[in-house]
Amino acid sequence: MKIGIVGAGMVGSAAAFAMAMRGIGTRITLVDLDEARARAEAEDIAHAVPFAHQMRVEAGHYANLQGAEVVILAAGVSQRPGETRLELLSRNCLVFQEVVSRVMEVAPGAILLVASNPVDIMGQITQEISGLPPGRVIGSGTILDTARFRSLLGRHLGIAPGSVHGYVLGEHGDSEVLAWSNVCVGSLQLADFAAQIGAAVTADVRTRIDAGVRRAAYTIIEGKGATWYGIGAGLARIVEAIETDEQAVLSVSCMSDVLDIQGVACSLPRVVGRAGVVAELVPNLNAEEKAGLRASAALLKAAVEGLG
Ligand code: ADP
Repeated sequence: MKIGIVGAGMVGSAAAFAMAMRGIGTRITLVDLDEARARAEAEDIAHAVPFAHQMRVEAGHYANLQGAEVVILAAGVSQRPGETRLELLSRNCLVFQEVVSRVMEVAPGAILLVASNPVDIMGQITQEISGLPPGRVIGSGTILDTARFRSLLGRHLGIAPGSVHGYVLGEHGDSEVLAWSNVCVGSLQLADFAAQIGAAVTADVRTRIDAGVRRAAYTIIEGKGATWYGIGAGLARIVEAIETDEQAVLSVSCMSDVLDIQGVACSLPRVVGRAGVVAELVPNLNAEEKAGLRASAALLKAAVEGLG
């Protein structure tokens, strides 16, 4: 499968590297305003290919995205000194106006996978600019937050994260909701599992894991300025589900139409396959989590409306 990436910065390049390491896709084309950067990243990643899976990794122009079945949108500008979040968001909207239109001209059949932050809002904007059906514009959403949740909970329980079934929903950001009430480990409810192996999930443990998930990006940014490996791997995971028509349940961001959360893009568990998102699931939440999810969606809706 041919994959395009617009924005060969840290996130776009990390996604390309993760796909090359895991053998996802057969040809990856990196496009960036900074052509020298795209060329350098493509070459560097291509040099890793002999140690991994056979595929082509190259830099190109928009015209080279023709035939791409998935295009990852990771382009963006960074915050100027004194610039507000809303001003930054407005400038990134302009970037997307150009990027999405140009991608649609050459690859109208592609699934657009949005990675640029704030990812829910950028996804919604992409949806509007592209005019594609909702399931074909996917934001990486809380795929990474869900992975962090499973990883921290797995570490507490001494269990592989792959055996922890739980999701982070809503905004990819401060208002996200860790859906504790429906976490299962193996086939057991979390509390049963924790009791049987003697690793109780106390209020303190929950608070620590909640903060670990919610604050993860801030902590990493403090240490190295930005995050890219985790999200790169998350993007590769979504592309894998598309390429293999996996019908995997992933927490990704799309225009929502359940639980009276409509007209806004945020993360819910969704079924992902070759056609993109083919179903969205109504999570079984308690009253507090439901209220949290509604508040998270309302916050995103207000931010989009604020953009005009
Ligand atoms: P991140 O950490 O989110 O990847 P970066 O700043 O490293 O952020 O990468 C963003 C990339 O997006 C940069 O390489 C930048 O050149 C690219 N970019 C910015 N505007 C455009 C645009 N209009 N078209 C294509 N690429 C763009």
